[in-house]
Amino acid sequence: MCEYEKTGVLSITDLQLPTGKQLEKGVAILECVEEIPCNPCVESCPVHAISMKDINAPPVNDFERCIGCTKCIGICPGLAIFVVKVKGEKARVTLPYEFVPAPKVGNVVKALDRIGVVRGEGLVTKVVKQGKTLVVTIEIDGKYAMDIRNIRV
Ligand code: SF4
Ligand code: SF4
Repeated sequence: MCEYEKTGVLSITDLQLPTGKQLEKGVAILECVEEIPCNPCVESCPVHAISMKDINAPPVNDFERCIGCTKCIGICPGLAIFVVKVKGEKARVTLPYEFVPAPKVGNVVKALDRIGVVRGEGLVTKVVKQGKTLVVTIEIDGKYAMDIRNIRV
């Protein structure tokens, strides 16, 4: 049984993980493990990095192919896609955000992990609207690159 089935919260052991080199390039982490009939992420990817065995299967990212463009983030109805890029001691996490108030570039926000615990602060470096979803990039301490998945403005 995976961690997610026990706790209802995804943990790192439930996920397809990139190598350190792939994280330096910047890649999409697909935090989607349920078998649901959904595939807009596959259709959205300009380099065909995301695939599925069938419409109900969880998506898989080909990290070698992924260019970290973030186009799959806003299209995901489950808000389950995050682009992570590690550079030296810092990391940039790009995440979907649908709460108010909207963050603005230059804001310092609370950086939250998957269960909503504050793990530090993030500097907002980019905000883009994709449909009704804001796609927000924050710069954080690199050691939390695979933990921070939400913000509080
Ligand atoms: S970040 Fe861009 S290249 Fe990577 S999987 Fe998403 S859409 Fe494809
Ligand atoms: S669009 Fe989102 S919820 Fe749907 S399969 Fe892709 S990652 Fe999962």
